[in-house]
Amino acid sequence: MYLKPKTLDEAVSLLASSGGQILAGGTDFFPSLGERLPQGRVVDISALREIRGISVESEHIRIGGLTTWADVIRTPLPRCFDALKAAAREVGSVQIQNRGTVAGNLCNASPAADGVPPLLALDAEVELASAAGRRRLPLAEFLAGNRKTLRRSDEILAAVLVPRRTENAASAFLKLGARRYLVISISMVAAVVKADAGRVVEAHIAVGSCSAKAQRLTDLEIAMVGLPAKVGIGAAVTAEHLKTLSPIDDVRATADYRRDASLTLVQRALEACVESR
Ligand SMILES: Cc1cc2nc3c(=O)[nH]c(=O)nc-3n(C[C@H](O)[C@H](O)[C@H](O)COP(=O)(O)OP(=O)(O)OC[C@H]3O[C@@H](n4cnc5c(N)ncnc54)[C@H](O)[C@@H]3O)c2cc1C
Repeated sequence: MYLKPKTLDEAVSLLASSGGQILAGGTDFFPSLGERLPQGRVVDISALREIRGISVESEHIRIGGLTTWADVIRTPLPRCFDALKAAAREVGSVQIQNRGTVAGNLCNASPAADGVPPLLALDAEVELASAAGRRRLPLAEFLAGNRKTLRRSDEILAAVLVPRRTENAASAFLKLGARRYLVISISMVAAVVKADAGRVVEAHIAVGSCSAKAQRLTDLEIAMVGLPAKVGIGAAVTAEHLKTLSPIDDVRATADYRRDASLTLVQRALEACVESR
């Protein structure tokens, strides 16, 4: 059965009463079915206008759960969002960016989801709505593993919340694939660097496609603090800083290649952050 609620309240009460699979832009949903038809109830949330768009709140920037990648690209945002905007431009093609949503990318929880590293580097939280109310979780917790999240089946990801604390920080996103366009990444890196008086005061660095879920390089983040925020900063990054990654061999690349490429991407992303200061 196909249902298309008009409000978030209606959608969460449908999910509470008899469940169903959520359909947003459908760009992951339909390819995952292959030749099969959807089974059971499908709750199409694409008419929930109240959760589409980006707004500024006192503590956060709120990215509504139905916000598309094209919305992210065209909305003027503080510079710490440069990485997320760059990732948005890398998601599939313009057609995919027009349909695909940020929330769909997170709920699908692919290790290669382009939206994850920039949002992890921004310390994003997710807001989950159900008939029982709303709850918030750090994105790093919400993503539980390869294709796994902590979303309950009666919950809709209503918003992604990005704290405004680092809004003046520089940020960068780099994605390496086997070709330039319409490609699943071999590795990708997002960095957010906040500097004061010429020195790094905070650095957030996340790597995707090199573990079951994208992860922050916390040892490296600590090592960056206090370094001069200037060209050459990438030289401080060593292979040891990436030891928590667990890349695999697959059709796109070997684990060794992924490790090596990730080191270069991290160095370049940090350089890009200090060059853009
Ligand atoms: C040709 C092609 C190229 C692509 N290229 C890329 C790429 O380069 N990088 C990349 O990261 N992705 C890529 N994708 C994957 C996809 O486009 C993105 O992940 C997109 O952001 C998914 O959003 P959606 O709205 O289409 O999600 P949907 O397909 O509608 O849903 C995806 C999953 O999330 C759930 N869901 C969706 N919204 C919510 C919500 N608000 N609350 C709870 N659950 C929800 C659905 O139930 C489903 O399980 C590509 C897809 C295609 C078809």
